[in-house]
Order: sequence, then C-alpha cells, then structure tokens
Amino acid sequence: MSKHPVPKKKTTKRVTKQRYGAFKTRKLKQLTAIVSLTDCDNCGAKKLNHNTCTKCGTYRGRQVIDMNKKAEKITTIKA
Ligand SMILES: [Zn+2]
Repeated sequence: MSKHPVPKKKTTKRVTKQRYGAFKTRKLKQLTAIVSLTDCDNCGAKKLNHNTCTKCGTYRGRQVIDMNKKAEKITTIKA
C-alpha cells in the first residue's frame, strides 16, 4: 500500500495547458493591477502614476527635470 497520495490517472495535455493558461492570465491581471499607467497631461505619453514623466520631465504641471540640458560625461574625478 502506498503511504502518500498517488494520482489515479495521468493528467492529459489539455488539462495541463488549461491550468497553465489560467495561471498566465491570472498573473497578467495581477501585474496590470499593480502597474497603472496614465497619460501625461503635458505631452500625452504613458507614465507611471505619481511619478515624473520621463519624456518631458513634468510632474503635475510643473517642470521638474530640465530635459534640454544634456548630462555631461564624467571623464575625470574631482577630488
Ligand atoms: Zn510628459
């Protein structure tokens, strides 16, 4: 006699695929619930909620990051 539960029949390919398909859709739904994207008021690009727009650098109508200013390459370390 077996001491642990043993499946009576082999799981079919279809049942396995159904299970993993359901898992995939469930995970996608959870991810879309966590990450909510909104349109930027200034440029209309997709941005994260409560975050600065990465395209134009504005947050709630205020210019937070100067996007025209290019970041200079650091070649030497100033001590
Ligand atoms: Zn923007």
